[in-house]
Order: sequence, then structure tokens, then C-alpha cells
Amino acid sequence: MEEKEKQNQHNDIVTQLEPEVRTKSELQPDDWLCIICNKKITTDKDRFEFNNQSEFQFLNPNGYYFDIITFCNADGCREEGEPTMEFTWFPGHSWSFAFCSRCASHLGWKYHGEFSFYGLIKSRLIKGVALFN
Ligand SMILES: [Zn+2]
Repeated sequence: MEEKEKQNQHNDIVTQLEPEVRTKSELQPDDWLCIICNKKITTDKDRFEFNNQSEFQFLNPNGYYFDIITFCNADGCREEGEPTMEFTWFPGHSWSFAFCSRCASHLGWKYHGEFSFYGLIKSRLIKGVALFN
């Protein structure tokens, strides 16, 4: 697990160094992009189902509701912080922060445990199809 973490972090750094070559014409309707900088974060094809669900609404300890979507991959995210079990929304899974690897917006959380997946905040993403108009 720890080795895998290091590998993931390394891959994230490599991603950051690559020039951004994506143009609007390469977007797919089922892509999910960062709403701030429009970097491709993930795609509907990578949705992950936790207990047969990929969309959730959670209340955080400060009283804010978050609508989140779960994905098994989110290449556009950079992971940060030590995973913690504190207030975790997914039983048995620790979390760390997930930021946009281009503009550093907080997009959601990376979960670790029996499954490894991302929970991304719906309102901080925009669906590719929205840019096709
Ligand atoms: Zn961004």
C-alpha cells in the first residue's frame, strides 16, 4: 500500500510536468472537467460504485452538504496529505485531499482501504457535454 502511494505520487508529479496539450476538440461528452480551469479530471466511464451507488450526499462536521460522485480513477487530480480515518464517509476507508493538478482547486477526496477511489464534489466539476454547445 505504501509503495503504491509513492508510485501514485510520482505519477502525479510527472503529470504536472507534462505540457497541457488537450484542446476542446479532444473532449468527450462524458468527460468531467475542473470547473475552474477546464482540465480533464476523469470520465463517466471511470465511475466507481460503492454499495451499488456512485452518487452520494454527505454532511461534513462543519454542517456543509457535499454532493459527490465516486470514480475509480481521476488522472487530473493530485493527492495531498496523510490519509486519515477521521470523519470518513466510507466505512473502513481513510481519505486524503484531491486537488486539480493544474489549478490546485480542491475537487474532493481520495479514499484508501478495501477499495481505492476518488469522491469528487459534483459542483466543482463540469461535464464535457456542457462545452459542446
Ligand atoms: Zn483546475
